[in-house]
Amino acid sequence: MFCKNCANEISNEALACPKCGQPTVTAKIIAKSTIICSYILSVLIPFVGFFCGIYLLCKKSFGHGIANIAISIAFFFINLSIISALN
Ligand SMILES: [Zn+2]
Repeated sequence: MFCKNCANEISNEALACPKCGQPTVTAKIIAKSTIICSYILSVLIPFVGFFCGIYLLCKKSFGHGIANIAISIAFFFINLSIISALN
């Protein structure tokens, strides 16, 4: 495939253009699935989702990072009340 930014020919498996550093479609799909996975984890396993949120913040994805942390804290208490209701 070719780089969208500088039209340099790059490998299909490449995550970024070696010439200009522009992320490829593959890298964008991986980034998107990481974000979706961390939302799912925030709901199911808030403890893990919380760290996924911090990871996203480190990756400079602030909106998704903060949303993930907020969801994981909210679901931590929701899951806690579900567990205590079951007992
Ligand atoms: Zn490029």
